[in-house]
Amino acid sequence: MQTVTLGKTGLVVSKNGFGALPIQRISKKDAVYLLQKAFYNGINYFDTARAYSDSEEKLGAAFSYIRDRITISTKTAAQNANDFWKDLEQSLKNLQTNYIDIYQFHNPAFCPKPGDESGLYDAMIEAKKQGKIRFIGITNHRLAVAKEAIESNLYDTLQFPFSYLASNADIEIVEACKKNNMGFIAMKALSGGLITNSAMAYAYLAQFQHVAPIWGIQRESELDEFLSYNDNPPVLTENMKKQIEHDRKELSGDFCRGCGYCMPCSAGIQINDCARMSLLLRRAPQNVYLSEEWQEKMKKIEDCIHCNKCMSKCPYGLNTPELLKKNYDDYKTFL
Ligand code: SF4
Ligand code: SF4
Repeated sequence: MQTVTLGKTGLVVSKNGFGALPIQRISKKDAVYLLQKAFYNGINYFDTARAYSDSEEKLGAAFSYIRDRITISTKTAAQNANDFWKDLEQSLKNLQTNYIDIYQFHNPAFCPKPGDESGLYDAMIEAKKQGKIRFIGITNHRLAVAKEAIESNLYDTLQFPFSYLASNADIEIVEACKKNNMGFIAMKALSGGLITNSAMAYAYLAQFQHVAPIWGIQRESELDEFLSYNDNPPVLTENMKKQIEHDRKELSGDFCRGCGYCMPCSAGIQINDCARMSLLLRRAPQNVYLSEEWQEKMKKIEDCIHCNKCMSKCPYGLNTPELLKKNYDDYKTFL
């Protein structure tokens, strides 16, 4: 089985990490089954967040009895030290543990540093002193914050979107982490559902030995797919390379990654799916997106009040209202 060393943390984790965001959507019983099946078949790294509703609780229920055999990372989106401590205590309780292996700032708009006004980094240091966390991490979607975090030398790991659709600037971030001996945790390796060939996604990332992808897993069939790569890791073939080139051309430029950081929408539009509907229709099983439920969700775009709040929060600088309109026009034509 392939493993990855997460930079200076020295933590050795399975190349397939388990992204525990989607288990919010299944029952506790099903989640515990899925998580334990993952563990007993070689996955020893699980990533969650305080913001993923009951995901931490499900991890706690699955793993409290084998805590020392797994690596857990979770995240806080706190903006001040007070909320940081509340989040940390809640996460420890939910996870049924007295320490978190990697505690990460969840996509902050700035790079927390010692002595800054937020007090966030100082709180991390204190939490480490108290033995409540082992390593300090940061997650981000913004190139500038990611770069600053690497250059600051304050962080043990960076979690950043990385898939075969990555730009050269993204790859520079990946390489910079390697150079600085920082663990690199790859999120969105399937680019939020736009990449449908997981073997190809895996094979691309496998070229980067220091990269630890976390796959968002909700169904047993998805888990089985990734488990099969433990024994038979897919290798990049010439055909795959051609397909990747093709996908890169098709998905170059301004496309919505589905991250959801622009939400909630003032008009209740499900922006993270609706703003990339054209791609979902053509790249994922389209029946799902043509249902009445989805037609209603798309129709909501008509209610946009152009407050532009979404646009100001999009880390990719997208003109979200315009993108929604384009996708809606295309959707109507498609229907
Ligand atoms: S501009 Fe439209 S889509 Fe964006 S938050 Fe406002 S109402 Fe929602
Ligand atoms: S519009 Fe931007 S912030 Fe919103 S889901 Fe898409 S990529 Fe993410």
